Amino acid sequence: MSNLSFNDVTKRYGDVVAVQDLDIDIEDGEFIVIVGPSGCGKTTTLRMVAGFEEISEGEISIKNEVINNQRPQERDIAMVFQSYALYPHMTVKENIGFGLRHSTDFSSEAIETKVVETAEMLGIGGLLDRKPEDLSGGQQQRVALGRAIIRDPDVFLMDEPLSNLDAKLRAQMRTELQHIQGQLDVTTLYVTHNQTEAMTMGDRIIILDGGKLQQFGTPMECYHKPNNQFVAGFIGEPSMNFVALSRESGTLARENFRYELTDEMVGSISATPEITLGIRPENVDVLPEPEEPNDFFATVDVVEPFGKEHNLYLDPVDAEFSQPIIATITGRQRFEEGDRIGVRFPPDYVHLFDGQTGNAIWNPSDNEESVPSSTI
Ligand code: ATP
Repeated sequence: MSNLSFNDVTKRYGDVVAVQDLDIDIEDGEFIVIVGPSGCGKTTTLRMVAGFEEISEGEISIKNEVINNQRPQERDIAMVFQSYALYPHMTVKENIGFGLRHSTDFSSEAIETKVVETAEMLGIGGLLDRKPEDLSGGQQQRVALGRAIIRDPDVFLMDEPLSNLDAKLRAQMRTELQHIQGQLDVTTLYVTHNQTEAMTMGDRIIILDGGKLQQFGTPMECYHKPNNQFVAGFIGEPSMNFVALSRESGTLARENFRYELTDEMVGSISATPEITLGIRPENVDVLPEPEEPNDFFATVDVVEPFGKEHNLYLDPVDAEFSQPIIATITGRQRFEEGDRIGVRFPPDYVHLFDGQTGNAIWNPSDNEESVPSSTI
């Protein structure tokens, strides 16, 4: 049974379409991450589920019950925001137990027991008598989580809950949050700008652009089988390289650059005249010099060293690409700015997109087992 469903949901603010025809089913207990550029409709989607925004068209259901007309307090959901919004005059214990005291008829003893259990689970059992001002940012965020968890809702809604934390604490809370969500098995919608959170936390990711769903799939599906050029460019860091080309039967070309398609590619793509070739930086091969017909010379423009690996920004010697090609190489390989090298786009890793619509027309099929760490 799907736990949370969006049935052709649209949200308009006057002429602005913030979310358009969102139609997805989320399974019970799934951890769903919503990502996309600023203004793509992430928060609006969450706020419609919470009941803070009216739905212009379509229906949202929780456990097969349409909730469009339910008031926020009637919905069995709990929210965690970027700002912790704790009550400053209350202790940790009072903050965590607040919702239960006001929306249930549990006895004080029962609430106390649940508060202690929740706080222990979050590693803040020793801080129950402190006020928020005496807590670190990470501890305050745990209290905010505790307040949501204790209500044992059907759905958790989280809007950038970790973005106020420093990088180290954020990484720690990321794993803790995943662990807790797994233990509680509560369906979760989690909004973030952060690639790492999207790739590592979500069972599935909702990728939005301009209010429209671009892809709803597992992180690996979105990474290896992007539906379109937008998803391909959005997921992965550094971003996928793109080269816009014209097609002449089995050859893709632009001035001073040619790329022969494999027979398999030619056999399975339609007569698309403009094609954008995509290849991820870690799949670009660098060689002492070109060896095969599709290889080409490039000059190393910038070397971005990261220790474990480096990013090379490469300018083709003969052709003009609109962007430099980025190649991610291991930290043991040594290149200097100004070096002239051979570059290869291995066909096993090449993605092809319709140059007009951006839709994927070819994704590699045999390399989806793992995502290299450099990409997340
Ligand atoms: P961000 O990542 O910047 O928080 P977002 O993906 O959460 O963005 P939303 O806040 O959902 O985006 O906004 C989606 C679109 O709806 C944007 O174009 C925004 O300007 C518009 N919008 C949101 N709230 C309102 C409102 N109350 N009135 C008019 N337009 C709004």
